[in-house]
Amino acid sequence: MTDCPSTANAPGAPERILIVDDSPANLRLLMNMLGEHGYLVHPATNGELALQFVQTTLPDLILLDVFMPGMDGYELCRRLKADARTRDIPVIFLSSADQELNKLKAFSSGGVDYVVRPLQVEEVLARIRTHLSLRNLQKRLEDLVEARTAELIAANQRLQEENAERKRAEFRIRHMAHYDALTDLPNRVLLQDRIQKAVDYANRNKTQIAVLFVDLDYFKNINDSLGHMVGDSLLQLVAQRLQQCLRKNDDVGRLGGDEFVLCLSLMNGRSDAALVAQKVLDALDKPFTLHTTEMHVGASIGIGVYPDDGTNVEALMRAADMAMYRAKEAGRSNYQFFTPSLSRSVEQRLEQENRLHHAFARGEFALYYQPQVDMKTGRIYSAEALLRWRQPDREPIPCSSFIAIAEETGLIVPLGTWVLREACKQLRIWHNAGHPGFRMAVNLSPRQLSQSNFLSTVESILTETEVPASALALEITENLLLPRSEENMMALKHLSAMGIQLSIDDFGTGYSSLAYLQRFPVHTLKIDQTFVRGIGENPNDMALVTAIIAMAQSLHLHVVAEGVEKQEQVDFFLARGCLAAQGFYYSKPVPAEDFLELLQKANGIPQA
Ligand code: C2E
Ligand code: CA
Ligand code: CA
Repeated sequence: MTDCPSTANAPGAPERILIVDDSPANLRLLMNMLGEHGYLVHPATNGELALQFVQTTLPDLILLDVFMPGMDGYELCRRLKADARTRDIPVIFLSSADQELNKLKAFSSGGVDYVVRPLQVEEVLARIRTHLSLRNLQKRLEDLVEARTAELIAANQRLQEENAERKRAEFRIRHMAHYDALTDLPNRVLLQDRIQKAVDYANRNKTQIAVLFVDLDYFKNINDSLGHMVGDSLLQLVAQRLQQCLRKNDDVGRLGGDEFVLCLSLMNGRSDAALVAQKVLDALDKPFTLHTTEMHVGASIGIGVYPDDGTNVEALMRAADMAMYRAKEAGRSNYQFFTPSLSRSVEQRLEQENRLHHAFARGEFALYYQPQVDMKTGRIYSAEALLRWRQPDREPIPCSSFIAIAEETGLIVPLGTWVLREACKQLRIWHNAGHPGFRMAVNLSPRQLSQSNFLSTVESILTETEVPASALALEITENLLLPRSEENMMALKHLSAMGIQLSIDDFGTGYSSLAYLQRFPVHTLKIDQTFVRGIGENPNDMALVTAIIAMAQSLHLHVVAEGVEKQEQVDFFLARGCLAAQGFYYSKPVPAEDFLELLQKANGIPQA
């Protein structure tokens, strides 16, 4: 716009008129007349000069003599109209009465009007004004149209953007309805739909499919102790590994929590499913690294096959779920196919969960006590409280058969508090009965430690029962320490600062090294029974136990041998300077009354 001359005068500036006429007399006359009425007038005596003039200055209007030597008015007008820059300048033809104007030619060459000489001043001025204002109006109209068009384009663009955004939102909503937000795997809804399609396909083609239920082992420990953020990141890594185990046409989704489901087409029958299940186990068995912390999870897998184990999605998923529980019972990190007998055992399990809750409500739990003995002197210095379930008219049930269920259902938290209180009450009784230095060991579940009120619960139980903190030992497993959580560390440090002793239970079965344990305020290591059992039989076990004792001693840790059953084992430990033991060699866990007898026999009856 700036490099081309403009017709747009500044508001209030005089309008510019170009007069093209070969007669100087005519020119002068018009120039005087228009000049007097405030117009800025430029003369040109022929067409070429006029064309030159408009190269630099654009007039608002042109008065054009029709008859000129050389280029006549019609031709000049045509050329002006052919040029985009000058096209819109109104041209009024001038003619004389004696030279007849060809009106048709005048208008078709682009003129807007004409005046005939001799000129009437008022008429010329009126026509000029009319055409100037017409031109101005037209320009305003054009400007308006241009502005409106720009607005429309902008509005249209906005509309398109809004449309695109709405489409994206719709996609997100649809996606959210069908995909798990954490792992972006298909969720339950989409997964069931995909399994349904796979069932339909298998039905038409008389083929088989398998549904695999994958449940992570020990995920709750990690989630409870390291927090949900870490748990979530771990689940994302698990999802990635699962996807890598899939073949074309297989599906994987997440049901929620740490439960994943695979849907496989079986070309070669069940062996296909077994192959994939093993691949998944291997993939999840490798440690996961999160923020430089190594974690071990592993998985238990249940497999249901169509059409043998269920003919619809629901039945198949139920079958796979039951088989998965069977895999958990079989010791985790394995897969199991559904068998009809499982239906029954799952019912039993549900029943057991129920019964466990009722048992707690009805007070059917009891504590048994097993002595911890100084092997050199035979003195009993402590008891370990072990939970038993006593049903009317039945043998007490040991915890191995129900503690896992109590942990999974969360019952372990109130149950554990009850155990701690009972054990401390009992200890107070024994202290009062003349064994004041006697100690008590209580097992702790990871879920208890991660309760926010755990420390205050311990404190109030100690106060209530008047048991000194130094008389209490809490036994934790390595699993609990493995996910390196700040909260766990703080809780353990707090317990230790209170004066409570901390023992690592089943030492040697987890993944921690002794160096790693140094970071925790641990006092005692309990060497796992499986190694103790190998003494006199398995040279590897013996070497390992020897090494553990030596290292523990160098770290000033107290060592307890667990599951000691034979004299040979006692000799082995004594020879290596490990003096403390617990095991059937000394006594099975017994009820409190019987324990007092053991205590008096071993330590002597206190003077009244
Ligand atoms: P643990 O803490 O390692 O307890 C020792 C287990 O070994 C007990 O089994 C005990 O009866 C058994 N045992 C002791 N000496 C011998 C022996 O010489 N030979 C053999 N073969 N076994 C021996 P129990 O009472 O069935 O407890 C099993 C596990 O259940 C315990 O292992 C402990 O981890 C857990 N548990 C027991 N009571 C509680 C509790 O109150 N709270 C929690 N969270 N866990 C508990
Ligand atoms: Ca224990
Ligand atoms: Ca143990």
